[in-house]
Parts: sequence; structure tokens; C-alpha cells
Amino acid sequence: MPEPVQNFVAGRWTASHGTESLPITNPATGEVIGRVPLSTGADAGTAVGAARAAFPSWRATPAVERARVLFRLKTLLDEHKEDLARSVTREHGKILTETLGEVQRGIENVEHACGIPTLMLGDTLEDIAPGIDCETVRQPLGVFGVITPYNFPVMIPLWFWPYAVATGNTVVLKPSEQDPLTHQRIVELAQLAGLPPGVLNVVHGGREVVEALCDHPDVVGVSFVGSSKVAEAVYRRASHAGKRVQALGGAKNHLIVLPDADLDATVDACMGSVFGSTGQRCLAGSIVVGVGDAWKPLRERMLDGASVLRLGDGLSAETDMGPVVSATHRDRVRRFVDEGERDGAKLALDGRRATVKGLEGGFWVGPTVFEDVAFDISIGTEEIFGPVAGLNRATSLDEAIGWMQSSRYGNACSIFTTSGKAAREFRYRAGISMIGVNIGVAAPMAMFPFGGSKGSFYGDLKAQSRDAVGFYTDARVVISRW
Ligand code: NAD
Repeated sequence: MPEPVQNFVAGRWTASHGTESLPITNPATGEVIGRVPLSTGADAGTAVGAARAAFPSWRATPAVERARVLFRLKTLLDEHKEDLARSVTREHGKILTETLGEVQRGIENVEHACGIPTLMLGDTLEDIAPGIDCETVRQPLGVFGVITPYNFPVMIPLWFWPYAVATGNTVVLKPSEQDPLTHQRIVELAQLAGLPPGVLNVVHGGREVVEALCDHPDVVGVSFVGSSKVAEAVYRRASHAGKRVQALGGAKNHLIVLPDADLDATVDACMGSVFGSTGQRCLAGSIVVGVGDAWKPLRERMLDGASVLRLGDGLSAETDMGPVVSATHRDRVRRFVDEGERDGAKLALDGRRATVKGLEGGFWVGPTVFEDVAFDISIGTEEIFGPVAGLNRATSLDEAIGWMQSSRYGNACSIFTTSGKAAREFRYRAGISMIGVNIGVAAPMAMFPFGGSKGSFYGDLKAQSRDAVGFYTDARVVISRW
């Protein structure tokens, strides 16, 4: 039985006081590869205390020196990229090219945060009145809680904590309890890079730790990513306790294909969007709509492509699609497929009984395709978070946009077309935060804000970019007369 992973508090690895722990599994084999403790609220409190104690001297460390720690971390992450990616594949299941992409996206956030001396600059205006000058200075606020989901265990924590510490704050991170192993290694690398004790702390666990961070009077703000139900609960709880909160939630993304689209490129992009990471991405396409004459060839090509995807261990070069993260999640995805059938959608490709020879203990769901998905049944409205496509036909762009807008989510959407006019109309009317034009996964890079709208996001300032700098600092205004 593996020992539970340790928390990281005040620069030391320490055992959790939680009496329970959960297994961490390799989803391709079902093998238990670690255990994660369910830490207590008191463990969270101890970590907040360590972060609070570290704040004054870290805040007083010049921004250029804080940035240098991140420069060193970036170099170390580059050196360990392959190992980190393999480790994510082992605990999450997605294929190595996908995990390499994830680690790269994480590194890009560290790179961007290295620019903090410039990103944090304030403004000044002389003579706002005769002899009176005005300036803004961006100041850090204290201890931030960062709570992250299982689907990007390297990248999503790196959307937040590098910016929080670059701006001079200190952090308590609670990673997903499903795949917390790889980020342990990143914390070691951050230590090697010279991040002082107490600046970044990690407490493993679940709801009890999250609620303790939301309630703790010394936590000034919370960055959260996860399902919408939990995002909303965290937003309500932490904002009720007077904190600033950014809470990124779930998604139901529509991809709309017009008859004039380049079909080869479009099908590639839609396939990658729906089945990449086994559908476990907040930017994954879920409903693919063929408008008018686009429908028939799109349907045929998507079905052909989906039916030949090879399931397997993400570490094998022969694998196109890995398992889903857990047996519980596999059963949930299968239940959605059962419901879709029962609710009258046409099941054109059924992945429920998929298995992989020699890996029968893995958590497999094969590529699954529905046609004619109504927008009042569960597979038309709920986030499935698995390799399940809903293919629909619309008579016009207007109809397709209407369907998209009926969703309570608003994370991402894409249009495929060669018409600039149609693309412009789409981006103008979409009302959704991350918009792709001939792009299957509309993922903003580190210098742009990442986050959705409607039921996909609770808060105002998003992850990454200048938004992160705004979230982790207060713009203080100084008005001077001498
Ligand atoms: P989740 O909501 O189950 O868990 C997210 C975090 O919240 C974890 O750290 C977990 O321990 C904690 N948590 C779970 N239940 C809780 C509760 N009742 N109270 C307090 N904390 C709780 O999400 P997940 O399954 O780990 O991740 C998948 C979800 O994350 C999907 O909905 C996906 O769309 C979403 N996601 C969104 C984005 C985005 O940018 N909007 C990015 C990645 C993932």
C-alpha cells in the first residue's frame, strides 16, 4: 500500500492530519500508484498561517528578484518536460503528445509571469490639479487559495500560482485529489529554483480543505477551476466571506460548420476537439452542427474518423485516445449514453463496451457519436466530459447560433467557414468568451485571458494575462501635493 503523499507547508514536506486517504490510479491499468490524504481544515489553517508569515518578506523582495526565481523554474521545467508529461499520462491517462502540450502550456504561464516587473507597472499623471500629481501602484494582497481540477494537473495550477507569487503574494494550493502526483515534482522544482519557504504551500484533500480556504479570514482571494456546480458554490462561499474570487466552471461547447468550410481541415479540427484528451477538456467540442449541405459529408467523415481511433495506454505511440480518469467517471459517461438513447437521440457509434486487450482493468470509453440531439435532453444540455459527440444538422447559421445560445454554459465555441462575413457575424453574436474561427480548441495563450461566461464562469477577472495581475493585486492610487 503506497504511503499517502505529503503536504508542503512552510518549505517542508509534512504528513496530513487527515485520517482518510484515497487511491490514485493509473487509468490505463487500474493499478493503484499512490494515495492522497484527505487533509483537515486545521491542516489548511496551518498552511495559511505559513503563507501569511512568509508574505511580508516576499512582498518586500524586489519584483525583479521574484521574477528571477520564475526564470530559474522555467529552465527547470523545460529540462524536466518529458518526465513531467509521462507522469501526467500515468496518473491522468491522456496520451503523451497531449500531456507534452499541457506541460508546454503550463511553462508558457511561468514564462509570462517572468515579465512581472513590466506587467505590474503602475500609471502616473502629473498635475491632475495645479501642483498635484497622481499615481497608481499595484500592491499584492496576502494569501491566495488556489483550487484546481483533475483534467490539467500541471497546467491549471500554473495558470494561477506563478502570477500570484510573481506579484508578491503567497499561496495555498489544493490540487485535484485524483492526480496530485506530478505537481509534487513541480513544487520540488520551485524549491530548487529558490522559492522561499511558505511562499507556495500545498494541502491535499477535498471539500473540507476547499471550504476551509473559502472561510479562512487570512485568505484574501480564491482562484478555482472545476465543475460549474462546485465553481458556483465556491464563488458564493468565498465571496460571502469577503474575498475576491475567480471560479471557472464547466462547458458545453458547440462547433458550427458552414457548407463553404475546408472540409479536410474542419474534420481534423472537430475530431481533435471532441476526442482529444478523451473529451476531458473544458474546451472540448460537444455538439457539432453541420449547416445545410455541410451536414452530410461532415457526418460521414466524423463517423469514419471516430470509428478508427485506437484506444490504449497513453504512453504507447500506437494510441490515439487514452482512458477516462476513473471507473466512477467511466460509469458516469456510460450513464449519459444510456440516457441519450432513452431520450431518443440516434446512437450512431457506441463506445460503452470498449475495452483494450491486455489492459482490461483500465477505465475505457470508446468514441461515441449521437445524431439528432435535442436541446432539452441531458446529452444536449449537460457537460458529459467524455469522448461523446452530438452531431446535429441546422438549416442556417442563425438556427445554429440560436441552439448554441440556449445553453446555460458559455465557455467556448467555434465556427468553420471560408466566409469572413459569416465569421464576423458569429464572433459578434456568439456571447461566449473563447471563440474559434477555423480552430477546434479555442485555447488562449498565457498573454490572453482564459475563462468563460454564463454558467461557465463566476467572477470578473479571468485566468492568465493582465487579468491575473489585476486579480492578485490592488491598484492603489496616491495623490500628492508637496
Ligand atoms: P470538480 O468540480 O469535481 O473538482 C474541482 C476541485 O474542486 C477539486 O480540487 C475538488 O477536490 C474540489 N471539489 C470537488 N467537489 C467539491 C465540493 N463539493 N466542495 C468543494 N470543493 C470540491 O471538477 P473535476 O472533475 O476535477 O474537473 C472537471 C471539471 O472542471 C469539468 O466540469 C471541466 O469543464 C472543468 N474545467 C473547467 C475549466 C475552465 O477553464 N472553465 C478548465 C478545466 C476544467
